[in-house]
Amino acid sequence: MLRELTAIPEGLLALPATALHQRLDGPTLIHLPGRNPEPLFVSVLLHGNEDSGWEAMRELLAHCQGRELPRALSLFIGNVTAARQGVRRLDGQHDYNRIWKGSGGAEHQMARQIIETMRRRRVFASIDIHNNTGLNPHYACINRQDHRFLHLALLFSRTVVYFTQPDAVQSMAFSALCPAVTVECGKVGQHHATAHARQLVEAALHLDHFPEHPVSAHDYDLFHTVATVKVPESVTFGFGDEGGELAFTPDLDHLNFRELPGGTLLARLHSEAARLQAWDESGRDVAERFFVRDNSGLKTRLPLMPSMLTLNAEVIRQDCLCYLMERLPAID
Ligand SMILES: [Zn+2]
Repeated sequence: MLRELTAIPEGLLALPATALHQRLDGPTLIHLPGRNPEPLFVSVLLHGNEDSGWEAMRELLAHCQGRELPRALSLFIGNVTAARQGVRRLDGQHDYNRIWKGSGGAEHQMARQIIETMRRRRVFASIDIHNNTGLNPHYACINRQDHRFLHLALLFSRTVVYFTQPDAVQSMAFSALCPAVTVECGKVGQHHATAHARQLVEAALHLDHFPEHPVSAHDYDLFHTVATVKVPESVTFGFGDEGGELAFTPDLDHLNFRELPGGTLLARLHSEAARLQAWDESGRDVAERFFVRDNSGLKTRLPLMPSMLTLNAEVIRQDCLCYLMERLPAID
């Protein structure tokens, strides 16, 4: 299902994500030459509705047209058919950021093919660009605690999240080959998100090598994802007065990246069955450890910091309510 090209198709840079299907038959990997032959790999639109990455690359490539890039670039444009509909993925498709390990479909085979191609080309670094739906600062995620990965992450943000689950994401697969990051550029449709993603890619293209020296502990805040929080399939939910067995506080997404004290109210409860699940990295439900219910509702049991809390019901059902994080000491 993968197409590989060695030039940008005529007219492609004029198209928004929703119109890419007019020039691309599906997922496409485009290799562009540069002064340094070891390529930077950039993936955009693994989630079809998250278009800041494509907008950033559109601007960057339009700006560079007719000029040599400082470094070769391999651009993967992912879920073109979902982008056409403005959705994360179509029904019946695998999530394009959960296909980078194992087998299970044509998408997994495509991901393996991309990894092999980039290994052969001696990939220099990898950047996967995303948006999210809640109120979140821009941050970078790494899957290895390694100074080269931190150097790459800090080209984007001093807020860095380390995670090892889910493990079938793009940046995890590329971590075996080169420094790799996933960057979260906040909500779609904001010009500063596009500009920020573009600055990161430009900086990485201009980077000659990763510094050997460690990053100073003062230069970053490192957090570790300890659990993924979901609403059980059988439990209904809403925000504020919308109803549902779990009635979340209406401005829930303002809690992202805030170190919350124990006892913070998350939801009112309208049934005995209303609860949350919190899956730890080994796949156990450890909700009891983080949440407690009393007469007034569902609260945090201990100090914790959420990320990716969203008010978007579809995202909560398709993906999760949020992640829980704890602060990590600086990397040795
Ligand atoms: Zn995404």
